[in-house]
Amino acid sequence: MSTMNMNGNDNDTSYRYKMPVFKVTVAGKGNGVYTIFNNIDDISKSLNHPTEVIMKYLAIVSGSSYIQARETITGPHDPAELKEFIMEYNKYLVFCSKCNIPETVPGLSGSKKNPTLQFCCSACKNTTEAKSVNKRIDKGIDIIIKYLKAGGEWKIHKANCVKQEIEPDGADQTEQSDESSNLVLPSAQERANPFNFLK
Ligand SMILES: [Zn+2]
Repeated sequence: MSTMNMNGNDNDTSYRYKMPVFKVTVAGKGNGVYTIFNNIDDISKSLNHPTEVIMKYLAIVSGSSYIQARETITGPHDPAELKEFIMEYNKYLVFCSKCNIPETVPGLSGSKKNPTLQFCCSACKNTTEAKSVNKRIDKGIDIIIKYLKAGGEWKIHKANCVKQEIEPDGADQTEQSDESSNLVLPSAQERANPFNFLK
């Protein structure tokens, strides 16, 4: 399996964190051209991010549509373009901004209505809020928040994040206690999420 460094610097041959190179097939004709992702499950496993989240991200930042039933996105896409998109995703949504290790686990904090996305690093235990750096990363943050809010499971294959308490913003505390009574926690989500999910 050919791999690339998760930090985008393939000159560093001793770099420890690697992910598979995209293997895609462009199919269809005319306006019906679409791209099949042959190894998207291996890619999402190496990032510890769900396939659905990665595919939605790649579709939206490339101006395409994700066809979930077929694991494809519309239009032709080549591995070089996809690599560029995923390296930016890695930098801001997979790597810990403090220790630069790709072993973070996302979680939501704040109010149910308007939660913020946080990343807990299983290596250095640092918790940081996802930062808005550009429109693409904003889309990525939106996709992850929606996925977690919907109770999507976040499987971690190698990281093992210690459960932490997130201090909510003072402004959110009243709202939280008001909304906590009718929120049902999915058990899988609770297990996968190191944070107190939408208290
Ligand atoms: Zn860290």
